[in-house]
Amino acid sequence: MGRTIGIDLGTTNSCVAVMEADRARVIENREGARTTPSVVAFAKDGKLLVGEVARRQAAVNADRTVTSVKRRMGTDWKIRIDGKDRTPQEISALILMKLKKDAEEYLGEPVTDAVITVPAYFGDAERQATKDAGAIAGLNVRRIINEPTAAAMAFGLDHGSAQTVLVFDLGGGTFDVSIIRIGDDVIEVLATAGDNHLGGDDWDHRLAGHFASEFYKQTKLRLEKDPTAFQRVLEEAEKCKKALSTATSYNVNLPFLAMGKDGPKHLELTVTRSLFEQLTDDLLRRTEKPVQNALADAGISASELGHVLLVGGSTRMPAVAENVRRLLGKEPGRNVNPDEAVALGAAIQGGKLSFEVSGSSKAAAMVLLDVTPLSLSIETVGGVASRLIQRNSTIPTRHSQIFTTAAPFQRTVEIKVYQGERRFVRDNKFLGSFRLDGIRRAPAGVPQIEVTFDIDANGIVKVTARDLGTGKSQDITITGSTNMTEEEIRRAREDAARYENEDARRQELLDIRNEAEAYTYSLQKSLDGLPKGSLDRTEEKNLRSELKNLEKLVAKAAPDRITEREAGEIKRAYEDLKAHAERVMH
Ligand code: AMP
Repeated sequence: MGRTIGIDLGTTNSCVAVMEADRARVIENREGARTTPSVVAFAKDGKLLVGEVARRQAAVNADRTVTSVKRRMGTDWKIRIDGKDRTPQEISALILMKLKKDAEEYLGEPVTDAVITVPAYFGDAERQATKDAGAIAGLNVRRIINEPTAAAMAFGLDHGSAQTVLVFDLGGGTFDVSIIRIGDDVIEVLATAGDNHLGGDDWDHRLAGHFASEFYKQTKLRLEKDPTAFQRVLEEAEKCKKALSTATSYNVNLPFLAMGKDGPKHLELTVTRSLFEQLTDDLLRRTEKPVQNALADAGISASELGHVLLVGGSTRMPAVAENVRRLLGKEPGRNVNPDEAVALGAAIQGGKLSFEVSGSSKAAAMVLLDVTPLSLSIETVGGVASRLIQRNSTIPTRHSQIFTTAAPFQRTVEIKVYQGERRFVRDNKFLGSFRLDGIRRAPAGVPQIEVTFDIDANGIVKVTARDLGTGKSQDITITGSTNMTEEEIRRAREDAARYENEDARRQELLDIRNEAEAYTYSLQKSLDGLPKGSLDRTEEKNLRSELKNLEKLVAKAAPDRITEREAGEIKRAYEDLKAHAERVMH
């Protein structure tokens, strides 16, 4: 078995790390960057683009570019491109494949195993979808761990003393608060809370909305209707937001944004930090309640916290850090690198799972006790959600309860499973259902049906129902409507692997071109360096003309778009020329 990599599959950026000599280290991608934009694009020529190249062309190819797909995980969202529907799992898999490939290049060996992180507040469907994305990418997902927990692991390894920390993680698309006790050998998550739909993207959209309405005031043109223009506005909004983390004002300048009746229209305006903060104040407020809830669930007060860790790119906004300071009465620390801590923690966990970290090291000794973020219940009479597992229970966990029938001589029961905190199932998220039939005929209230919930270390749920009268049982691993079947995953994996083959083939074509090109230089040099008269004149003329021809073929084939035909022509011309030169020059 190879090494297990740790992957932070982020909404906007992803990061991959690995254990090396008892330390976790971030793996740079092929482009030399430590994080990779979580952007996937299908170029018009059918080429797949992932990462920085995809991000750069997003504005000119908006309808074939997917960003922030993490927000769609566990939903039935699909995007149709080139006549094929693609699920969030499949898009995420393409990002994972790039990270996997970059790691393989760095390590010089195949990578098969990974630990992938998810927001602590991800429910069952999102976790399952993440695991499926890993499978599609050809990865054996050893464990799904929570992002704040991973960050705390990375922190705990470097900051010895036992303490309780609050991890405030505001990323591109999700928000998590976790309260974690770091002991000498145990990392125990006491509570977690958050909002799956709150992140830096919301700040961008708010600002973009402001730009669009200012533009409308000036021009009476609606930018929202033009995806390409709006994508440019969004990108500028993010730039502006980031700039305002250090500067107090920013000049927005987007020339030629739309065409008016009297010519092209530009967007120019100045945004101050204080205006930005006013526009986004309600978003900031949404971070407060989860902090209070997490403290309450953990049963501690803010003064008992040893450290407050800021994780996630969006905590760079001064208003965010200031609000945390005000809420908790404590200076939040940046003891961890917000972009890398999560991947590092995942790598530590990966190293532990594959016994890469040596027995005596702190990483090897640390035991991770995580919790499930949401309560699990089944529907009972009147649409009531009967809880079997309370939120913030340490996982893996298992709980059973006996239920009975509501109607006389009822032979079947349908078990409907929900996740969430509300009293009535209609307000919670439906996870899945199954039937238990063949219950012995008996008056209402007599049969005893034992329902057991198991949550594994990944936070993924399995439910079993057993009729204690007959011993008959039924179980399901919850697969809500959005989850993929084994067969679907297999097909998606083949599809994803096709891209990899295409990539490999493109590289081969490029290698042919490059080899031929290098040969043209060296042959040119040899010919020019030959003593006069050492070669038959006709032979030399022929050689030079063949060389010219090959140079032309090489010049015509653009490195990023070389076709099979072009590579074939180059190869033939190159081999003929080489044979010819060897014959006459030696
Ligand atoms: P993450 O998912 O943790 O990589 O966080 C990405 C989010 O952080 C995106 O919404 C970014 O726009 C945001 N972000 C990154 N750098 C900054 C910054 N300097 N100021 C404000 N937001 C930032």
